[in-house]
Amino acid sequence: MTGQTQVSATPDSPLDVIIVGAGVGGLYSIYKLRELGFKVHALEQASGVGGTWFYNRYPGCRCDVESYQYSYSFSEELQREWTWTERFAPQPEILAYLNHVADRFNLRKDITFNTTVLSAVWNEDQRLWTVNCADGTKWTAHYCLMATGPLSVPRTSVLPKQEQFKGEVYYTGTWPEGGVDVKGKRVAVVGTSASGTQCVPILAAEADHLTVFQRTPNFSVPSRNAPMDPKVDADWKANYTDLRKKQWNTRSAIIFQDPVQPALETSDEELERIFEERWASGGLGFMRAFTDLFTDQRANDLAADFVRRKIAETVKDPELAKKLLPWGHPIGARRLCTDPGFYDAFNRDNVDLVDVKADPIVEVYDKGIRTESGATYEFDVLVLATGFQAMMGALTKMDIVGTGGRLLRDQWANGPEAHLGLAITGFPNLFYQVGPLSTGSLASMIQGNEVQTDWLADLLVHARKQHIDRIESTPEKDHAWMEECERAASAFVHYTAKESSYIMIGADGSRRFLVYMGGFDTYQKKLKECVDHGYEGFVLQHERETEKA
Ligand SMILES: Cc1cc2nc3c(=O)[nH]c(=O)nc-3n(C[C@H](O)[C@H](O)[C@H](O)COP(=O)(O)OP(=O)(O)OC[C@H]3O[C@@H](n4cnc5c(N)ncnc54)[C@H](O)[C@@H]3O)c2cc1C
Repeated sequence: MTGQTQVSATPDSPLDVIIVGAGVGGLYSIYKLRELGFKVHALEQASGVGGTWFYNRYPGCRCDVESYQYSYSFSEELQREWTWTERFAPQPEILAYLNHVADRFNLRKDITFNTTVLSAVWNEDQRLWTVNCADGTKWTAHYCLMATGPLSVPRTSVLPKQEQFKGEVYYTGTWPEGGVDVKGKRVAVVGTSASGTQCVPILAAEADHLTVFQRTPNFSVPSRNAPMDPKVDADWKANYTDLRKKQWNTRSAIIFQDPVQPALETSDEELERIFEERWASGGLGFMRAFTDLFTDQRANDLAADFVRRKIAETVKDPELAKKLLPWGHPIGARRLCTDPGFYDAFNRDNVDLVDVKADPIVEVYDKGIRTESGATYEFDVLVLATGFQAMMGALTKMDIVGTGGRLLRDQWANGPEAHLGLAITGFPNLFYQVGPLSTGSLASMIQGNEVQTDWLADLLVHARKQHIDRIESTPEKDHAWMEECERAASAFVHYTAKESSYIMIGADGSRRFLVYMGGFDTYQKKLKECVDHGYEGFVLQHERETEKA
């Protein structure tokens, strides 16, 4: 281990930590670990920093956590000098922020771009990870941190015979840097989740004609994005310390206006008034209108009914409105979308909706899409807002090879098990961030990344002091944490959802929750308890020690 000196890395000499990914997690990890004197280097497949915000350049892309909350807390100076211009920052501004962070903290010198990691292989004799890249380079390191993101592998080739289409094809998750000119063109959008609901209103206003293909209607609430309120800006700048403390003590790393009462103990008039108020103020805070919306199905139904009424009121054609109404899953169990006028877009003459649950897509042909009924839809541009191989995709796409040649992909074939959602038995000295069984997408992820990086940094400092060079979780603890995630989820309406989603895979007996729903605040307590109990659940081995501690 290199002690306190900072050395620029090359593939030839072993690093302390190799980091895969230069999104919000990778960037902070480079900064933090380097400050502590670790020799670190990051490998990034993109040509720039930003991860999610580098790739998702589709029209309308923006965060759904308010800008001041969706930002780093690790540097006072950074907090004070950066000013967000909108309530929910648009993708270009978040990307500019992350580039500013990279420049301000001189992080680029420790990143190699345009480098895709194909595999990471553990060498037990040397206690080193070797990371192999698509360009043939190899990097070795004592520790490997997979900051590869929960939503970084878009689902591709999702439609039958997609390759037959002769027009332009774009994924929202890898939107071209220069944008796409849809003026005068017929556009199809497939998918009506978070990305679809954000881009539909913008594309509808620009394109000649827009056909939206919807499989599962989702709940979406208005975002009510607006220029940054100077009072909000001033409040955050003056009170960062207190507000961050407050933010970190919430269940989702997001400060909302707290609910004061359960919906089930509220009169009909009061219920309506409070829902209206939340609807008018916009954003994810809608689901914080009452204390029981996530925990009692009857209360959740009241919120769902309210939103369905709003959809029916907004969309003028009753038949069309009916198709857009979400049924069959609790509101909030799938990602709640926030939109800049998704439902309104269907009142435009140039927008059509195709319900592909009722009339499934059978194939893509050279000019468009054909459905089971024989209907054909022609267009020039196909936009696939079809989501990601969420949570596990980046980790299982690579060949991550642990002790005895085991493959992570195989080990997780029936669902992930990982101690505290960051370490996996059989993969010593390897850690991952905001992936499966972490607070993941149920908490603001900049904060999720910060918490995990800080915890890992403390662990590596401890290891350095104690001359520990091998850290591995145990199968019992990995399994126990998976059960803890299931137990935590069972308290929520999400648990009753039938269809798999980005937080849940499998069905019936083999169903697994992919996130820890116990809360961001409780998750931090669990991390602390682990440390307080001497890194409970980890086997820490000293240098040259061969027996298990
Ligand atoms: C459209 C959209 C909107 C979102 N809005 C919000 C929001 O409002 N609030 C919120 O909390 N979260 C939001 N998210 C989630 C978002 O992913 C996280 O907030 C955060 O950006 C994740 O950062 P990360 O560094 O962990 O991962 P990423 O940003 O995904 O970065 C991972 C990096 O790893 C790289 N990588 C992966 N595999 C390899 C490999 N094999 N070799 C080399 N490089 C690799 C990728 O190229 C990527 O740059 C949103 C996601 C999307 C897609």
